[in-house]
Amino acid sequence: MDGAAELGKYRIKVLDDARPYACSWSDGVIGLSRGLLHLMDQDETAAVVGHELGHLLSHQGKSGIWSLLGGNNWTNNEEQADSIAVVLLRHACISPLALPHALAKVRDAPQSPLELKAGLDQRIDRLTRTIARD
Ligand SMILES: [Zn+2]
Repeated sequence: MDGAAELGKYRIKVLDDARPYACSWSDGVIGLSRGLLHLMDQDETAAVVGHELGHLLSHQGKSGIWSLLGGNNWTNNEEQADSIAVVLLRHACISPLALPHALAKVRDAPQSPLELKAGLDQRIDRLTRTIARD
């Protein structure tokens, strides 16, 4: 195998990049950067994979690339992927707080783009409130 892990029809690949990020392609490949894996504990890594699975599950049949950090027009897509990740984490008996913790680590990493920090703040705040309420 070429360093990719099989996960049903999805595959996880480690991307040789020191910046912390994750992305997913519509062919089912989820990429986790080396920088991300250095920052995350096991539950947080699961939360990031859950977020990327959230993109792939909610965009089945559409082609594209999605990411942990969002980007243009990120709000709806990112909130939807975050919500699916929370459900997946609960099913796996992992605290869904691992997701806002993972996002905070990415936000606070010096390599993360400044223009994405406000969006990450909003998602962390929304997730923390939603998880506390449920
Ligand atoms: Zn995303």
